[in-house]
Amino acid sequence: MDLADNAQIEIEREQERQLVNFKRLEVVPTDECIECGADIPEERRKAVKTNLCIGCAELFEIKRKQFRR
Ligand SMILES: [Zn+2]
Repeated sequence: MDLADNAQIEIEREQERQLVNFKRLEVVPTDECIECGADIPEERRKAVKTNLCIGCAELFEIKRKQFRR
């Protein structure tokens, strides 16, 4: 089981790297959520480059975690 655990950790690390790259490439910051049109608070936009409100960003992360290749 140790080998399987290590493999799983490697997969997760790789997915994290891809997620970071994906965000760098794709995100054009907006002041409204591209999913639901809600205003994105200025503090959030300053903290993270994003075009999603907090709720949609959380859903997005969950979806990405479920969508394993
Ligand atoms: Zn939203």
